[in-house]
Amino acid sequence: MELLYEGKGKKIFSTTNPQEIRAFFKDDLTAFNAQKRGKESQKGALNCQITSALFELLHTKGIKTHYIRQLNDNEILCHKVQIIPIEVVVRNVATGSLTKRLGIPEGQVLHKTLIEFYYKNDSLGDPLINDEHAILLQCVQDVQELEVLRKQARAINTALKSFFLQKNLKLIDFKLEFGKDSAQNIILADEITPDSCRFWDKESNEKLDKDRFRQGLGDVKMAYQEVLKRILQ
Ligand code: UDP
Repeated sequence: MELLYEGKGKKIFSTTNPQEIRAFFKDDLTAFNAQKRGKESQKGALNCQITSALFELLHTKGIKTHYIRQLNDNEILCHKVQIIPIEVVVRNVATGSLTKRLGIPEGQVLHKTLIEFYYKNDSLGDPLINDEHAILLQCVQDVQELEVLRKQARAINTALKSFFLQKNLKLIDFKLEFGKDSAQNIILADEITPDSCRFWDKESNEKLDKDRFRQGLGDVKMAYQEVLKRILQ
């Protein structure tokens, strides 16, 4: 099958059905806009299982996604969508770039969940944008589409946050990507994995996500395995 797109964490292939694609999860790890690169064996398979379980959970909550089913250890079958070039970041607790940019102390619980938009453009380093930028750049047609992104992001956060709390994990923040399906509905696409989310252990605040790679903390695979184990518990 034809390779349609290769990203940092996945390869996207065509299928015999023009409305469907296969997403292959890679073992590659990148951070700081791919300035830091690495590889972790089994990371792709772990992310594939984690994403499958979380998309299936969201479906039970009535949230539509591009996910159809898991095909094998590293691949999922998905509806083909046209990706909206906006990274939608949802934050419950301050860390990472929010702490650096606005000086909100690391670990501070935000009194209101924050939704941010970043322009998905590697050569520009995915800059933070506002509603007017998103419309000017024609990422979306109008402010109503941005409201759809915000509403879905909040619903996804509500579902995931309470699910992970039952698993003794705090969902600190995460990044979502949405796309338009053949009927022009805006649905969740991409992945939900420890590459795209931050999870802290509820008791110890141990980081169980890609920050272990970003910050050189070691035990990256152990962290991803722990997240999967708790999801499946
Ligand atoms: N994130 C991501 N891809 C990106 C940028 C951010 O998946 O290109 C996720 C990241 O894992 C975290 C959240 O979005 O869960 C917020 O990241 P932040 O803006 O704090 O960026 P960072 O500190 O990683 O530069």
